[in-house]
Amino acid sequence: MIDLRSDTVTTPSPAMLDAMVGASIGDDVFGDDPTVNLLQQRVADLLGKEAALYVPSGTMSNQIALRCHTSPGDQIICEDGAHIYRYEGGAPAVLSGITVTCIKTPGGTMTWELIAPSINPDNIHCSPPRLICIENTHNRAGGRVISQDIIEDIAANARKAGLSMHLDGARLWNSHVASGIPFKSLADPFDSVSVCFSKGLGAPVGSVLSGSRKFIDKAIRVRKMLGGGMRQSGLLAAACIYGLDNNIDRLAIDHENAQTIASGVDNPLLEITHPVETNIIVFAVSDTAGLIEHLEKCGVKAVLFGTGLVRMVTNLTVSSDDAKTALTALNSYTGENS
Ligand SMILES: *Cc1c(COP(=O)(O)O)cnc(C)c1O
Repeated sequence: MIDLRSDTVTTPSPAMLDAMVGASIGDDVFGDDPTVNLLQQRVADLLGKEAALYVPSGTMSNQIALRCHTSPGDQIICEDGAHIYRYEGGAPAVLSGITVTCIKTPGGTMTWELIAPSINPDNIHCSPPRLICIENTHNRAGGRVISQDIIEDIAANARKAGLSMHLDGARLWNSHVASGIPFKSLADPFDSVSVCFSKGLGAPVGSVLSGSRKFIDKAIRVRKMLGGGMRQSGLLAAACIYGLDNNIDRLAIDHENAQTIASGVDNPLLEITHPVETNIIVFAVSDTAGLIEHLEKCGVKAVLFGTGLVRMVTNLTVSSDDAKTALTALNSYTGENS
């Protein structure tokens, strides 16, 4: 099976497993795990932040960030399709007691002009505005790379308005490879940045949240409270370090494979919803179940992505031949049950 449901489906390669088995470990809740400490230092340095924290998932990373930036009742602002709002189980309400204002955008990119009218005024009737969250790349916008100029403009205006900035950079790796912009520049406009290791980089578990020393000290307390304090997690962090060292540049292959599929699709029943810039392709199709079933019969897995939408995500288990097989499967879809 060619699994294009997500880039989370990868399992550790033999070399990654070797790195895990050979890792020096300790009790990370005591701060004693040298491999976790190294991963945190590596990510902080890469992103140009003072400190970083290894956490079990991207969801926990984002939600710890929200909790640390806000007080109950505060307003945060994100794009309408943001993972933080759509796919994290209502956690902003449950874990932080905050209100979320979603900004509808044409292609997934917020601008200051779109954000400004939604920022609550300083008025006793309103929830106090605190934080703007940006997702780069943007999953629901088909893995689009958000323009760095626009992000910098939002950040400059946010600062003037007294708002903080959080980056959901689950796929910041893909943004970096597609745009060529250094990680430090991508992270610079933000007070906190979350990156995932269990996606394109191929590690089995974990995300890292980064920010100022003071922010991360607070984040450590919240991680423990949420049950995310892990013990000999160096076993897992070693896989993340392996991913950092070996699997960033190869994302260009995933992007090429996504291009092979996107540029070759020639089927009146399928419409690609967004320009394909990284490793995600979203198709609009009237019979989503029919398409997914047809693809399965051709040996290709894709995933339902909301009403009328099916998503494919290239990843390190997918070869260029696999991409061609997926393309053939898409083009042979007739919409008839056979
Ligand atoms: C995958 C993802 C996350 C985190 O997901 P987990 O499954 O909790 O690790 C966060 N944001 C975006 C944009 C994602 O795609």
